[in-house]
Amino acid sequence: MSDFYAAVFGAGICGTAIANGLMKKGKKVLLIDPFVSEDAPGPPVGMVNPATGPRAKLCWRGKECYDALRAQLNTLMAYVGGEELISDCGVIRPAITEKLAKNFKRALDKYDWPEGWIRWMSKEEVAELNPEIAPNYGGLYLDCGFTVYVDRYLNTYRRYLREKGVVCKYEEADYSRMEGENRFGIDLEEGDSFSAEHVIVAAGSRTAGFEEWEHLPLEGVKGQVNWYGADEDLDWEHAVSAKGYSLRLGKKELVVGATYEHHFDGLDTTQEAHERIEGKLKLMLPELPNRLTKKAQLAGVRVTTPNRLPVIGRHAETPNLCIYTGMNSKGLLFSHYVADFLANHLATGAPIPEDLDVNRF
Ligand SMILES: Cc1cc2nc3c(=O)[nH]c(=O)nc-3n(C[C@H](O)[C@H](O)[C@H](O)COP(=O)(O)OP(=O)(O)OC[C@H]3O[C@@H](n4cnc5c(N)ncnc54)[C@H](O)[C@@H]3O)c2cc1C
Repeated sequence: MSDFYAAVFGAGICGTAIANGLMKKGKKVLLIDPFVSEDAPGPPVGMVNPATGPRAKLCWRGKECYDALRAQLNTLMAYVGGEELISDCGVIRPAITEKLAKNFKRALDKYDWPEGWIRWMSKEEVAELNPEIAPNYGGLYLDCGFTVYVDRYLNTYRRYLREKGVVCKYEEADYSRMEGENRFGIDLEEGDSFSAEHVIVAAGSRTAGFEEWEHLPLEGVKGQVNWYGADEDLDWEHAVSAKGYSLRLGKKELVVGATYEHHFDGLDTTQEAHERIEGKLKLMLPELPNRLTKKAQLAGVRVTTPNRLPVIGRHAETPNLCIYTGMNSKGLLFSHYVADFLANHLATGAPIPEDLDVNRF
């Protein structure tokens, strides 16, 4: 039986980040996920846009989150060489109503934006950048915004972690407290058994299904996106974010989202959601739907929390059982900065910020 410092359940956005954070501290990590591999399909694209919502509010610890994510992306991009994991395409936030224009202009002064991140564009400048954008009152342009090819990113990340010494097991596993010891026994479906000092549950929307965490006030919000192909190359690359978002994927494809469904039965995609998303696309880029063909429609679940911030920390009664979830719609931005708090806490006892701590509930 091999001994690990931590067994991480879930190799998605949180699980890879915390496995990496602990590995960098020299800790031996076991990463477990029965639903993925190093070549798994997944969401094709995700947006990194620190100017959030209709008020373009700078996201919580925006610069720290952004820098931590970029640092790890640089490491991964150096590791894979030529393969593209992101597109540094920028994000335009057209003010398609007068109210949005007012909010967006206010946001420029209200928040302490890092130099070079954000600027105002007049409607003429918006039209020059992208004549397909809906009539507007000008808009914000985020030079810092970018798109992540999420499936490629996560597959690369898992391979990277394995090559760096994290033991990755893509199969089901259970954990249980070991009698008389402050450790967990980890039993894998294919027969291996390990022990670990800590268990970290980072299982996304399935985290609430782990009985020790079912009391948490986590809400699942289903989101659907449409994936389109165009007949001809689309001659702009930036992401567009207004009442929805559109993310480019290669020269001829784009992903448009998303719905926010607070009540849902399952993860099937629906015609109603398809039409709602198409409505969002028409609001942003009115003529575009005529030139697009739907390729696919995808659904997933965001884990949201009352203060819209992630959840990390130790279980109140079983302190070596930990959690990392609650990423809302900002999983990519939060991932590494927040993981480092948990990794530091476990390795050195450094405190966890109150607004992230699982014991805030
Ligand atoms: C439609 C939609 C659009 C989104 N767009 C964006 C975006 O543009 N930008 C952005 O930053 N975020 C976006 N998000 C949010 C983002 O996807 C989440 O914040 C992020 O995936 C959360 O990371 P996670 O690791 O908690 O969960 P996940 O990424 O879901 O990973 C959880 C992992 O746990 C595994 N798992 C489940 N059960 C078990 C188990 N029993 N044992 C072991 N492993 C298990 C799963 O297989 C999975 O790999 C979007 C979400 C949705 C639904």
